[in-house]
Amino acid sequence: MILGDEIRFSAGQIDQIGAEAEAAYPEECCGLLVGALNGHVYEVSRVVASPNVVETRAHDRFEVDPQVRIDLMRDLRHTDESIIGHYHSHPDHGAHPSETDLAQAHEPELVWVIISVLAGQARESAGHVLDPETGRFRQIGLRVDGAVSGF
Ligand SMILES: [Zn+2]
Repeated sequence: MILGDEIRFSAGQIDQIGAEAEAAYPEECCGLLVGALNGHVYEVSRVVASPNVVETRAHDRFEVDPQVRIDLMRDLRHTDESIIGHYHSHPDHGAHPSETDLAQAHEPELVWVIISVLAGQARESAGHVLDPETGRFRQIGLRVDGAVSGF
């Protein structure tokens, strides 16, 4: 399995994620990232928001709506694009994966993008992949239209 070492967004895409993260605060937002792995770079072509359908503890847990994923996979059939990852927010926590995130990382090909929202403001975004050798997350670069990002 090939893992990239950078994920690239347009400014509009990262703004969309930041706005969702702020709107969901103090709960977690989540969604899927569509695109392709070109060389070592995950290029995002589309950000697809999902309701956070977790039943309890939405302030520190998330679950992408399975129907959103099914519909999206149907849309992407016969295209060059696929689901390359997902994103969720961390209300009042940093943009690094939690132990819960690690326990839920069952799909090692997916990039995890986490947005830190502090006091209602999106402050930081970071990308992570699961390193198959260590079984831990490894942070990758996150770029927005050429600029090293964040909010
Ligand atoms: Zn998390």
